[in-house]
Amino acid sequence: MKIIQVNTHLLSAKLTTPFAYSRAWYDTRTAMLVEIVTDEGHTGWGECYGPAKMTKAIVDEFAALLIGRDPLNTDYLWQQLYARFRDHGQKGLLIQALSGVDIALWDIRGKHFNVPAYQLLGGALRSEVQAYATGLYRRDSGDPLSYLTGEAENYVAEGFRAIKLKVGFGIAQDRAVTQAIRNAIGEDIALMIDANHAYDAVSAIRLGREVEALDISWFEEPVPPEDLQGYQAVKAALTIPLAGGECEFTRMGFRDVLTQRAMDIIQPDICSAGGLSECKKISDMALAFGIRTNPHVWGSGIGIAASLQWIAMVPDHTPVSLTPSAPLLEFDRTEHPIRQAILQQPIEHKNGVVTIPQGPGLGIDINRDALSFFKV
Ligand SMILES: [Mg+2]
Repeated sequence: MKIIQVNTHLLSAKLTTPFAYSRAWYDTRTAMLVEIVTDEGHTGWGECYGPAKMTKAIVDEFAALLIGRDPLNTDYLWQQLYARFRDHGQKGLLIQALSGVDIALWDIRGKHFNVPAYQLLGGALRSEVQAYATGLYRRDSGDPLSYLTGEAENYVAEGFRAIKLKVGFGIAQDRAVTQAIRNAIGEDIALMIDANHAYDAVSAIRLGREVEALDISWFEEPVPPEDLQGYQAVKAALTIPLAGGECEFTRMGFRDVLTQRAMDIIQPDICSAGGLSECKKISDMALAFGIRTNPHVWGSGIGIAASLQWIAMVPDHTPVSLTPSAPLLEFDRTEHPIRQAILQQPIEHKNGVVTIPQGPGLGIDINRDALSFFKV
């Protein structure tokens, strides 16, 4: 089997209501999808996280190195692309582009052998996964204490047992909002907070101490991703588990996180950290360090489907135990017109639980009408 085409699809959709996290406002959602076509009729789909126009340019550059190659040689092709561009990008956009390619190759491999991708990497540990609601962003009008508590109550009513709140808007507002959400959802729903690296270690410790009594399941990206010593300082000062890693890349990047024990929970993103090949290696490495893996997910249905193939194999946090504690699926609830539209069968939750697709490859079929509709 040979690769005969590498196509990139740049999609964009305007949002009805802009929303903000601690770094920026969003008024548009974009997606950069990779389609790899083979001479045996199999087509594989992948997705790249990050600035879509930039990852598109890189994948278009990769194409010449992929055409004519055997798509089943996933590790070989990963190493070749990585080595060819290593001098210019061991982290960031290069690896995000490589991630989309790797995911598409796994989709092809699954379709070729007519099994889900996870079946070819050791098989599934689970057939469904508890999802947590990612939302609770800021809006351009209204009182966050009121609209955020209303939104949180809706997630609980939908059946979610865990929700994540965006913080990083100043310690006073973060503390007030976290307290209000905890009051609104009660004690039985898990609550995580995510600062998107808005703070330095001093401020992150201060915020952590202010909310420590509110039973926070994890504090995500308290400090910038480069500052592993900052992570260690925050970790030493707080009893809240620290999470991070959506801005980290490849097994080489996570090697440093793990050997320094900078985080309690690592959150690689399959569309960013190197694809399914690399993320399986990263979660296996984390298991050896006794550190939890809980993937970051922020993309279209292709990113969600690829994440589910991986999550099917991510070990429980209490490995081979009578009381397993499984990883959660991050389920983005913000407006994203492209997310489910590009799938023939949307991936939805039922009472906060998502079933892992069982079809070949990523287990999804693409709606090409939606690709044309959102095409830039
Ligand atoms: Mg995050």
